[in-house]
Amino acid sequence: MLFPKACSSLMVRRQQLWPNLRKHWLGRPVMFGIDTLLVRPIRTLYGASQLLGSGRLFCNITNVASSLQIELVPCLQDNYAYILHDSDTGTVGVVDPSEAGPVINALQKKNQNLTYILNTHHHHDHTGGNLELKTRYGAKVIGPKKDRERIPGIDIELGDGETWMFAGHRVLVIETPGHTKGHVSYYFPDSRVVFTGDTLFSLSCGKLFEGSPDQMLSSLEKLMSLPEDTKVYCGHEYTLSNAKFALSIEPHNEALKEYAAHVSNLRNKKVPTIPTTLKREKECNPFLRTSSSEIRNNLRISENASDAKALGMIRQAKDRF
Ligand SMILES: [Zn+2]
Repeated sequence: MLFPKACSSLMVRRQQLWPNLRKHWLGRPVMFGIDTLLVRPIRTLYGASQLLGSGRLFCNITNVASSLQIELVPCLQDNYAYILHDSDTGTVGVVDPSEAGPVINALQKKNQNLTYILNTHHHHDHTGGNLELKTRYGAKVIGPKKDRERIPGIDIELGDGETWMFAGHRVLVIETPGHTKGHVSYYFPDSRVVFTGDTLFSLSCGKLFEGSPDQMLSSLEKLMSLPEDTKVYCGHEYTLSNAKFALSIEPHNEALKEYAAHVSNLRNKKVPTIPTTLKREKECNPFLRTSSSEIRNNLRISENASDAKALGMIRQAKDRF
């Protein structure tokens, strides 16, 4: 391997991520330098499974890169925790364990140990399993620096633009406030995967409990600046109800109609709709489509209103829906 892959290889490195992100999107390895050029060819297996109707959706394990596997673990009513498994080193992590039980069951089935717990934000339905899993496996808890007081058992605090390594996979921390003040998303650039917690859902965004429409818009814009084929793993299976709202305010969006029918079909079979992609969300998600004249007309949002104002009004309409 060209990149260090020891389980304990833990490295935090500051990067000025956002000024360079557009360069990354347009020109790829500009911001990451030589290590990207060395690593990328090894870890670039994705694509076909993203097509609508792919048979992969009937399996809850996704091979997103040569050695990173992601397993969806349904928790509580409609949460997903995600087990990350690096097949080269055997390192295992979990993102947002709402509760310990389903995660322990999934780990036991594969005789896996747990090394890391990653939290996007402090809400109990994303951190409820932290302490039990930490005690049982001795796992380290990784979470947002700004929420260090509210993340149970936090060991490693990360802020915007920092890079943390998961068994050789770079993990870029993107602060995405709006739902909560300290919310972060975790982006794995080599696998084109982002964990968005309760910031970006398929066809919606999180409720604005602690932030403003401006903050949420800015957070969503950060996520939208990632490559369009990035797979989005969010915190909840809300897509079917989100689709009903989205269709109610943009009924002539052909891409949305097609996706909504697909989502309905999947949910009838109890198949997850996650992951989605940024490309699909840009085409269908009303919170990423604040300039849509159809949405603005239906919600009586002035064409002169800012995108943040529009986002706030779409959010209010969704809250009432
Ligand atoms: Zn939340």
